Amino acid sequence: MSTTNDEGNANGKAGGSSHGFATRAIHAGFEPDPQTGAVNVPIYASSTFAQDGVGNMRGGYEYARTGNPTRTALEANLAALENGAHGRAFSSGMAATDCALRSMLRPGDHLVIPDDAYGGTFRLIDKVFSQWGVTYTPAAVNDLDAIRAAVTPTTKLVWIETPTNPLLNVGDIAAISQIAHAADAKLVVDNTFASPYLQQPLALGADVVLHSTTKYIGGHSDVVGGVLVTDDEELDSHFAFLQNGAGGVPSPFDAYLTFRGAKTLAVRMDKHCDNAEAIVEVLQSHPAIASVLYPGLEGHPGHEVAARQMSRFGGMISVRLKGGQRAAHDLCARTKLFTLAESLGGIESLIEHPGAMTHASTAGTLLEVPDDLVRLSVGIEDTADLIDDLKQALR
Ligand SMILES: *Cc1c(COP(=O)(O)O)cnc(C)c1O
Repeated sequence: MSTTNDEGNANGKAGGSSHGFATRAIHAGFEPDPQTGAVNVPIYASSTFAQDGVGNMRGGYEYARTGNPTRTALEANLAALENGAHGRAFSSGMAATDCALRSMLRPGDHLVIPDDAYGGTFRLIDKVFSQWGVTYTPAAVNDLDAIRAAVTPTTKLVWIETPTNPLLNVGDIAAISQIAHAADAKLVVDNTFASPYLQQPLALGADVVLHSTTKYIGGHSDVVGGVLVTDDEELDSHFAFLQNGAGGVPSPFDAYLTFRGAKTLAVRMDKHCDNAEAIVEVLQSHPAIASVLYPGLEGHPGHEVAARQMSRFGGMISVRLKGGQRAAHDLCARTKLFTLAESLGGIESLIEHPGAMTHASTAGTLLEVPDDLVRLSVGIEDTADLIDDLKQALR
């Protein structure tokens, strides 16, 4: 067994930080098993581990909630993808979100959140954390003055997504980290939409990076998971404490699937981006479309910042339909290759209506999304087939 259990930072000599992204994705976290030569990490379906004497553990493992070698391999891999020191894997992106919030906030604390935050993140803060005396202020991630104005003397955390879900607004990570740090607050970046292939927030000043690994990292719509990556030893020790203490851990099988997906992230993301760019071009000139929201467009308000902090602009596109909610529903009903479903980041193309689906919980709040909005998660099918599908659906 060539994984190690020390803080999830066993990048392995073949996957160390001197290597490029695709090499790290394939090699970090596990090297061929010295005993068997297995090139892939085994699914260690073991809830407990034999000890050689009381408290004398063989490989650093005692009980699988606390640590499991398959999970360790995944954690090391995902930390390496973000060029971070420590990774902690969870059973879902929301479990990772919950762990980060509970580790970093106390009753009476305040946080700043995006005014178009992921619906589940908003719901957790608004419905659960508020009961424990945590207050929040929504601010647009693309408005530095609004974020500065939202910070109060009790602000302990600035939480952003960039690009945001579903409006694809762009936040300037370096500038926002300065605002947070000037207020003695930490910055968490939910990097799910960009993936670590396109954007690495720790290098831009973020304290913690969060992913729903359900999306691009897993990449095949076959597993739910989350991860927290940080360089901050103390924060990581809090994450580790709650990961074990509250137990929102992925199973060894889920850890294996997520690791398997992560290995191909680089090639998948390039194809997601290629397809999205081609589709944006078609949609932009289509008479049924009122506007296309994509950070790669020069006219997008966040384009300059995105070009600075992202290597490409991702596989997510949102569009507003000229015919309002009715036209949005029709488009969602008519596509054949774009499957009508929540979630994103998988190899297959998906379409959804955020107002009625992923973001229904924001209805009637400040975070409500427009009802003529449709979100596309562009997959890695043949470009021409995806374009044909959208054209026939917009007829
Ligand atoms: C899906 C998602 C989450 C939540 O992750 P789950 O794996 O579904 O729990 C958080 N943030 C963003 C941006 C997401 O898209």
